[in-house]
Order: sequence, then C-alpha cells, then structure tokens
Amino acid sequence: MVKSQQTGDQTMIKKINTAIVFDSVLKNGPLSRAQISERSGLNKATVSSLVLDLIDAKLVEEIGQGESNGGRKPVMLLFNAQAGYAIGIDLGVNYIRGVLTDLLGHVIEEREWSMKRPDLTSGLKQLTECIDKLIALAPESPYGIVGIGIGVPGIVDDKGTILFAPNLEWGRVDLQQYVEDKFRVPVTIDNEANAGAQGEQKYGAGRGIAHQIYVSVGIGIGTGIILHKELYKGASGFSGELGHLSIEYNGKPCRCGNQGCWELYASENALLEQAGKQGLPEELDELIASAEAGDERTLALFRSIGSYLGAGIANIVNVFNPDVVIIGNRMSKASRWLEEAVQEAVDMRTLSYHRERMRILFADLQDRSAVRGAAYYAINTFLGKVRNVG
Ligand SMILES: [Zn+2]
Repeated sequence: MVKSQQTGDQTMIKKINTAIVFDSVLKNGPLSRAQISERSGLNKATVSSLVLDLIDAKLVEEIGQGESNGGRKPVMLLFNAQAGYAIGIDLGVNYIRGVLTDLLGHVIEEREWSMKRPDLTSGLKQLTECIDKLIALAPESPYGIVGIGIGVPGIVDDKGTILFAPNLEWGRVDLQQYVEDKFRVPVTIDNEANAGAQGEQKYGAGRGIAHQIYVSVGIGIGTGIILHKELYKGASGFSGELGHLSIEYNGKPCRCGNQGCWELYASENALLEQAGKQGLPEELDELIASAEAGDERTLALFRSIGSYLGAGIANIVNVFNPDVVIIGNRMSKASRWLEEAVQEAVDMRTLSYHRERMRILFADLQDRSAVRGAAYYAINTFLGKVRNVG
C-alpha cells in the first residue's frame, strides 16, 4: 500500500515537473538544460532526464550550441513546432476559410471556398471536403493532425453544439460530435467572434494585452471578451452577444425580437443597405475603392457607420473598462475611413476615466482573426494533453 502510494505521488510530481520543463522551452526557448534548471529551480539531473523524455516524444529538439559562459558551449533546446499540425476553420455565411498551422500557429497552408448560404447538408459536405483537403496538405509528422478548431456564425454551447445560427438558418447542429466522428481527432467549436478574439490575443493586435474586447463586424456584429488574457464565456458560453445591444430606443425591428439593435446600424449589412438606398455600390470592396477615389458620398456613409460603431463601442467600454477594443472581421478592411468617426463617438460617449488608457485598434490579422483563433483552440487542446501526460 505504502509503496504504491509513493509511486502515485512520484508519477504526479514527474508530470508536474515535465510540464514545467516543457512550458519553459515552449515559452522561452531556445534554452539550455542549465538555463531551464535556473529558471525552474529543478536540479540539473532532473531537468536532463525530463528533457530526454521530451526529446524521445519529439516535442523538444536540440538545435546546436549556444553561447558559453566560459566553459563548454551548451546545447540549446527548442520546442518542435512541426511535431504535429492543427486545422483552423472559419465557417462563414458565404465562405469557408481553412488554415493548416504548425504547433506555434504559423500558417503552412491556407484555402478559401465560397458558398452561397448553404443548407445544412451541403454545408457539412463542404466543411468535410475542406478539412480533407487540408489534411492531405499536412507534411509528415510524429503526431499528425492534433485537432480541428471551427469558428461558426452563431451561438454555440459548451458541448460544441450550434444552437442558433440565424444567418445560416441551420437550427440546432451537434457539430463537434459530427466532425469528431468523421476525423477522430479532438474538435473545438466556438462562435466566430470568440475565435477572432482568441486569434488577435494570441497572434494579432491583442498580444500581451490583458483586457481586450474584440468586435467582429461582418454581416452581423459579434463580440469576444478577453479578461485577464482568458476568453470570458459566461455561465453557458453565450456571452458576447453585444450585436444586439439596443442603441435606438424606437429603432428598426431585429430578427432577435428586440428593436434598434446595434448590428442593424453598424454592420456590413447596414453599410450595404444604406449604400443601396443612396445608389452607391452594394459591395464592400467596391465601396472601399470608391472611398479610395475620394467619393464624398461614400466617405460620408463610412463616417456615419463609424459613428454608430463608436456608439456601441462606448457602451462596451463603460461596462468592461478594457485596455483595447479591436475592430475585426470584414469591416476592418475599411479602417482608414471608419477610424476617426469611431474615435469621436467613443470620446463623446464614454466616461472620461476610461479614455486615458483605452485604445481602439483594428485587427492585425484582418479577416483571418477567427481562422487563426480556431487553429489555436486545436493547438491549445493538444498542448494541454502534453502537459498532463508527462
Ligand atoms: Zn437584435
């Protein structure tokens, strides 16, 4: 009894120590064994033995010699980012974008397919084909495809079931189960705005920032909330439906049942609807071209949308007191013509205390925030398992 108890404890300690060594190489590599020992407080013999396990597991590799502090030059260790590959998917209303990334999130391959508001059957078929194609593009690696992350334009519960995707009109879909059954790897499904928030936090404009609100402005508006560098998902995973903030008391009716919702005035849809009414092109890229050419009516339209965008952002700022608000998804392409009006509206409508530190940024990854964040979900799940196996 006593013996097995000891073994249990030792296994646990080894697991914890392996995770410590692994994380220090992952976050601070290249490092030598001596540097890992210094940083972690673990003795050199323990570090050497754990490093050997990680090298055997192909998760860490020796990359040659580093600088010496007098004695023999130490061998440097680096996380093996090509030990496996992740797939990220951004399932849009009229497109699917997919990336294949290594385990540091670098994009190895990227593909995009357009679709026309597919029904459920053809949507799932296209999704499956797209994942198949990305799997076929993956280089040989010890762990192969470690997981799939998918961002979807709808409300997703914590079991990866789409409950409501109004712009796709799909109803309830057990998407995580479906994709896991097909591909036999761990699958994470999340709302595209959450995925986008994660993408910007990890790889984009939100890097190193603790409190970040990501506003995905596409056909609708969604938001992803990062607090203390972690995605805030609410009690059931439904937080961030801020596209339905009421900003006009007697405003237009919304399909959500409310009226005067923010996304009716500040989304890409709102922009195109207004453009149509004014006889301007009803396509975002054409409107951008027309703004570039200096067309006054187009510039005024962008200013008006920007000012509504800023009004909603002001509400969010007053609630969350974030370090940054990042405007992402398709409308981030028009940042040049929105920026000033957004900032003005925010300055006018927020409490002055917030303004000293708060910055408004546009997504670094432009319309790729969600697909990169989706891939990160898959990577993060895999790395979590590595830490627990040791
Ligand atoms: Zn609404």
